[in-house]
Amino acid sequence: MSLRKGNPNPAAVPTGRRQFASDNYAGICPEAWAVLAAANNGHEQAYGNDPWTAEATGMIRDLFETRCEVFFVFNGTAANSLALASLCQSYHSILCHELAHVDTDECGAPEFFSNGTKLLTVAGDNGKVTPAAVERMVSRRTDIHYPKPRAVSLTQSTEVGTVYTPDELKAVWSVTKSLGLHLHMDGARFANAVASLGVSPKEITWQAGIDVLCFGGTKNGVGVGEAVVFFDLKLAEEFDYRCKQAGQLASKMRFLSAPWVGMLRDGAWLKRAAHANAMAARLEAGLRSLPGINVLFPRQANAVFATLPAGVPEALWQRGWLFYTFIGAGGCRLMCAWDTTEADVDAFLADVAALLSTKI
Ligand SMILES: *Cc1c(COP(=O)(O)O)cnc(C)c1O
Repeated sequence: MSLRKGNPNPAAVPTGRRQFASDNYAGICPEAWAVLAAANNGHEQAYGNDPWTAEATGMIRDLFETRCEVFFVFNGTAANSLALASLCQSYHSILCHELAHVDTDECGAPEFFSNGTKLLTVAGDNGKVTPAAVERMVSRRTDIHYPKPRAVSLTQSTEVGTVYTPDELKAVWSVTKSLGLHLHMDGARFANAVASLGVSPKEITWQAGIDVLCFGGTKNGVGVGEAVVFFDLKLAEEFDYRCKQAGQLASKMRFLSAPWVGMLRDGAWLKRAAHANAMAARLEAGLRSLPGINVLFPRQANAVFATLPAGVPEALWQRGWLFYTFIGAGGCRLMCAWDTTEADVDAFLADVAALLSTKI
């Protein structure tokens, strides 16, 4: 196992301990698990022609309060790559933030599945794409030698744990609209953004010009399965073929969609995300109360980024804590999940405090 995992001492990692490395370290939440078990009953039609997929699709339409086309795929890389490919020709380009997962963490999959559409990255504070950056990138070249900009991809919540407000999204939209660009949203942590903003999902999607959303289920609490939600129905045409060709059409689709029914029923998706955000708020407050720690970005969702004094991250790894230090703009990324407890946060903070005091 490579040191990308960040822990130089794998033997120290207690099995099953809840960690701060990522929300995808967590298991399946009870609401998703219960409906997954309920779906495991007898035979159903394959390839999405089952009642669970119909129900989950209907619930997503209700959630967004609009007619939209919904497709379930296995993971976020596929969701993003296939959604972006459906917006572009191979000679087009997609603008995204320089820290965007689609550029930094998908191994070239968006370019691969779009047959070469180029990602053009822009800088921006707090992990956000700004209208000015989009305008600059599009207008700096208009000749035939430049890959023609065709789409903008935004991550909500962002790779550094911040969220775009409805007004910020609308400001980007007003520029993309005038430039004839599509808008894609990587919503691997969409639920955390909705919980943080206290808005209805439509306010930060189709009412802010988003054409297609990759609605994350995995980090929210399902085991496998992201929903690609097209608000521009025309763009969804033949998307089923794109999924099939890419190996993303699940034959036993009900096991991807049924957990979504569990998440969407009674608002579990939002409750679980709000809890993860609250744990991150607790962690942030605790870190801020300790000396020598610098919190790097406004903590708005379920991640806290912080720099810790030299030697402290390594000592925490030795104590069996896992977290990444290479994501975003550096620092330690501490991610809370649906199952993070106050006791987990407090135990981590106690270890940080202990290490700080022995250094002084
Ligand atoms: C986790 C994540 C994804 C999806 O990653 P997969 O490992 O392919 O499921 C996409 N975008 C962002 C911002 C993420 O954090």
